Amino acid sequence: MKLQSIRGMNDIAPPESHIWGKIEDAARAVCRAAGYGEIRTPILEPTELFKRGVGEATDIVEKEMYTFDDRNGDSLTLRPEGTAGVVRAVNQHGWAIQQSILKLFYLGPMYRHERPQKGRYRQFYQFGIELLGVQDPLADAEVISVGWDLLKKIGIHDVELRISTLGTDSCRKPYFKKLTALLKENMDLVPEDFKSRIEKNPQRIFDHKDEKAQALAKKLPLLLDELDEESSQHFKRVQEHLHSMEIPFVVDANIVRGLDYYCHTAFEFTTNSLGKTQNALGGGGRYDGLVEMLGGRPTPGVGFAMGLDRLALVLQEASSFGGVRPDLVIVSSGKESVSVSLKVARELRGRGISVEVDLEGRSMKAQLKRANKLNAQYVLLIGEDECASGMAILKNMETRSEDSIPLEKLTAQLLEKFVESFHQE
Ligand code: AMP
Repeated sequence: MKLQSIRGMNDIAPPESHIWGKIEDAARAVCRAAGYGEIRTPILEPTELFKRGVGEATDIVEKEMYTFDDRNGDSLTLRPEGTAGVVRAVNQHGWAIQQSILKLFYLGPMYRHERPQKGRYRQFYQFGIELLGVQDPLADAEVISVGWDLLKKIGIHDVELRISTLGTDSCRKPYFKKLTALLKENMDLVPEDFKSRIEKNPQRIFDHKDEKAQALAKKLPLLLDELDEESSQHFKRVQEHLHSMEIPFVVDANIVRGLDYYCHTAFEFTTNSLGKTQNALGGGGRYDGLVEMLGGRPTPGVGFAMGLDRLALVLQEASSFGGVRPDLVIVSSGKESVSVSLKVARELRGRGISVEVDLEGRSMKAQLKRANKLNAQYVLLIGEDECASGMAILKNMETRSEDSIPLEKLTAQLLEKFVESFHQE
């Protein structure tokens, strides 16, 4: 029997993995620029963390977690998302007490037993940031801007930012009560799988996929129209800050969240390039009650998570990242030439220039063919004739122009060349 990977868990290899590398590099660069430091938490955590941190009445905890008992009989779970682990670590180490503001980012695999389809997998990757300790709406706006900047940096232009507010308890509680009563009056229109949620979080009817539910939701009152002063001010300020940063957005009342500790801002980045169903690239919001819920001191927080698989899919489909091409391919022939090519290749690689050399002793013709296939920017010819004359030939594969370079000055002159061409890019 052939061994196969687990359904919904993918191998990511070249050339696809080059795209992933670029996305991750961009995420790190955007975080560095905005002052977010990387946190790596364990992939396995106690099951209890997610029951409390994600919520028992969510799809994730009810039916999607990979949970098992380890050899000691402890219940462990492969993390289905990143925030709970980050907050667990913050509480465990007392970081929020030592520092008034914490800015963290994470990148890594998450696990959910969902029905696999394009853009939805059982092992998938998220990049996320968390900003802890700031109540001001400036924090919400900064977090959104980091997500927006990443999407722009990697060249996803077809993005829509949708924002909404979940308000605070003082307006949400009476609103939920009203909503629950209205849903109960219209029980025949409520989808079967939603009936058990009517009491806990009636607002989820707004993001229910069912057409019947959507039709019903259209007739229900919106929390946006019933905000108290604090919630409405917070939401207004977030929007003002987004305007100041020239980040376009739409207000969308259908963005809701499943848990009590979410409040105020909720947002999503969506795209049209992945079709209708898996169009969410990322989402996030404010979770002022979560730190306390997981045993820490009351600490406000806001963050988002983005799906790297989906970012990679969008870029692949738009092919805005051509695969990686070597800067230089050295074509060699004969013992002396191979020795020169190895030395030069190492020196250039040490300076960050990508260089391919022949490893199979193939003919110069075959090596040139490979250089073309690899779409190399430059080819350096060091055949027996070149060794005899002491001059190598550098070919620019785009312009077809050629230069002669003395063998003893190869590294220095090539470096100059590359610095020049990097400047022109
Ligand atoms: P969530 O943690 O559910 O709010 O998801 C945040 C983002 O992660 C989504 O917008 C998706 O881009 C991505 N995501 C969530 N679940 C999956 C999955 N099963 N497969 C691939 N990406 C996912």
